[in-house]
Amino acid sequence: MLLLDAMNIKLFIAGSSVVIISIAAGLFFLFTLQSAPAASPEIQAAEAAKIIYPRYDLDIEIEYSSHLVRVAEKAGFLNTAGEPVNELVFSFPPAIYPDVMKLESVEIVRNNEKKSIAPEIDTSMIVISLDTPLAVHESIEVRFNFSLTLFQIFKTDLHPYGNYGYGSQVLQCGEFFPTLTPWVPGQGFRRWKYHKIGDPYLYPLADFNITINTSPDVVVAAYGQVSQDNGIWKFESPHSRSWAFTASPEYKVMAGGTEALPVKLFYVSQNARAVEACFKTALDSVTLFSELYGLYNKKELVVAENAYYSSMEYTGFITISGSHMETYTSAAPYLLVYITAHEVSHQWWYGSVGTDQLLEPWLDEGLATYSEYLFFKKYHSELAGAWLRTANQAMVPGHYIDDTIFDFDIRTRYFQTIYRLAPYFIYEISLAVGETTFQKFLHEFNIRQTDTFASGADFFRILREFSSADFTALGVKYFRRPPDALKAETSSPMTRVEKGVSS
Ligand SMILES: [Zn+2]
Repeated sequence: MLLLDAMNIKLFIAGSSVVIISIAAGLFFLFTLQSAPAASPEIQAAEAAKIIYPRYDLDIEIEYSSHLVRVAEKAGFLNTAGEPVNELVFSFPPAIYPDVMKLESVEIVRNNEKKSIAPEIDTSMIVISLDTPLAVHESIEVRFNFSLTLFQIFKTDLHPYGNYGYGSQVLQCGEFFPTLTPWVPGQGFRRWKYHKIGDPYLYPLADFNITINTSPDVVVAAYGQVSQDNGIWKFESPHSRSWAFTASPEYKVMAGGTEALPVKLFYVSQNARAVEACFKTALDSVTLFSELYGLYNKKELVVAENAYYSSMEYTGFITISGSHMETYTSAAPYLLVYITAHEVSHQWWYGSVGTDQLLEPWLDEGLATYSEYLFFKKYHSELAGAWLRTANQAMVPGHYIDDTIFDFDIRTRYFQTIYRLAPYFIYEISLAVGETTFQKFLHEFNIRQTDTFASGADFFRILREFSSADFTALGVKYFRRPPDALKAETSSPMTRVEKGVSS
């Protein structure tokens, strides 16, 4: 919106142009200006960082009984990269299953002109080469129409295979629509090969607006619900890294938390103790991690029981293993409690601080798993010892914690390296630094790296402001390429004041 209040100016708005006629001191001026909506803070930040900030509008139909999901998607963005864009790259994991995903049409809209295209599909990547480069400050929208005929998943299935599918009681869809990959200045949108181990995705921030149409008996669990009426559900998830949903006609809801931070658990389990334990763990962990790392920055936390063995994080939304709900007993609480605390902590180590989950999976998974230990120490001290025994493993021959997901072809080796050794490395660092100082560092790391893609180098650079200890031996033990920052510093650590960091 453009506001001008000078007395001698009148505005006439015609189409997208604003005509200004000024009659002052007998002079007559005519200017034609192109109107421009005020840029959102996200667009301004993208412009400053020379990256791209997309917006997704999804119209989803769920035919629950036939496990069919139809999606009409509009993915749009303004070119804030500061350079022309020649090629668009979307990550679309269902594209690896031709029996599941049917791409009906892809259209590009530029300057109000629509054009059908046939994109290149390379495993989970959709690549669109533009005939004419997208100029700086030019907008583009890509419209996808596709359907997913979901396959059946079971409580033994593991991520990423079961990220979308249907179980006996729950249908789930994560990473199920095309999302733009991160823009790398001077290089373009990133491309990678889908990998069946780890989380083969990257999450640049974006706005998501979703409408779901389904039968009235189906309950949809997702972050950002704004309305629900007779099978039509609307969600808004601004400034988010992803959006996902689960659905079930059998979902019941447990709700609590505070007015400022409501927490909801959607569940199908008959195991009442598991439901209570999961809900309490979610509530306690979002409270604890807000204290430790910095305030949770979403308007609600939504937790949903899923249909497979894994659990998964999305913005404001986590899904918890239906298997762990089933097997929970108060005498054997470990699995359900640790996984719930783990997924909640990803709201910081993934949601707030983005990381490269392809090339540095140790960073977010190491921190999320280390967060389990902090949770146990506070709320279940009897389980903290079990966590330490579980994490303190022998190195996996041939692997180091700085390996990429592509370096692993055996899932158990990935799991032991990234979910056991990486958090134990972080634990050992915390002992060397002092646990209180280390917690101050984690808080600072979150605050300084909020809304970024942080790297291991960022982690160690900020850590060095809190400690000059010699971590050389830890670097050699855990890293294929030990970071220089782990070597002893000759000078004393710089304080936050010396670094000019505001509190
Ligand atoms: Zn995790």
